[in-house]
Amino acid sequence: MKFHILTIFPRFFDQLFDYGVVGRAVRQGLIEVHVYDLRNWTFDPHRTVDDRPFGGGEGMVLKPEPIFLAVEEILPERGKDKKVVLLSAQGRLFHQDIAREFSQLSELVLICGRYEGVDERVAEHLADEEISIGDYVLSGGELAAAVVVDAVARLVPGVVGKPGSVAAESFSLRDEEGRTVLLDWPHYTRPAEFRGLRVPEVLLSGNHEAIQRWRLAAARQKTARLRPDLIRRGGPSSSEGEIRSFTLK
Ligand code: SAM
Repeated sequence: MKFHILTIFPRFFDQLFDYGVVGRAVRQGLIEVHVYDLRNWTFDPHRTVDDRPFGGGEGMVLKPEPIFLAVEEILPERGKDKKVVLLSAQGRLFHQDIAREFSQLSELVLICGRYEGVDERVAEHLADEEISIGDYVLSGGELAAAVVVDAVARLVPGVVGKPGSVAAESFSLRDEEGRTVLLDWPHYTRPAEFRGLRVPEVLLSGNHEAIQRWRLAAARQKTARLRPDLIRRGGPSSSEGEIRSFTLK
């Protein structure tokens, strides 16, 4: 899968995708991350990408022309397996189902806004959709693009070694009926006792069935405590058909 990131701060991404799971995926050629300087699509001596807002007011707005030209060159042919996303505080809230949906694409273009934002014609006539990584305002789309690349890349087949590890994670794990999405269960490692705090005995028992039962119950409890909204929501998610769910029997 190819990610294309369009930004006025390309150096922001230096080394960002060199580490861990994503770094390994890049080195193995499972994903490609291309970063483009938006100023390459400007033609004036100052390489201007922004201008004052029509109607007056504070701040500057990213001009449409460089963004349209860049996207048309990066993705000359649009198709169902290619998507152009504008990172925006006003967009659809990013979550694991969207990451899963994006991981099926062959190419994903991520447009990073700055300043007061991006000329609205980009959202209306160029991008397939606007995506927000949370209900807060960042100073630029770069951090949001990095979050999207990371979350999507690890769902690309082969990127995370064992398929079970992504299927048994928060927001993919499901209860016995496969209806409610759960958070991951708690994890512990050596030592079995640390400062008087013992890990749950069942995890030391070697009894795999008992361990699985405990894990699912613990995942349920933790979800109910930290994210009761997930339990309340219940029911199959909108994209359930595509989900490689991991349920414990
Ligand atoms: N005036 C805009 C508003 O109130 O919605 C905020 C612009 S923000 C300072 C500049 C850029 O940061 C945006 O164009 C967008 O690309 C990015 N951005 C800010 N918050 C974001 C969020 N929650 N998710 C994704 N991108 C975000």
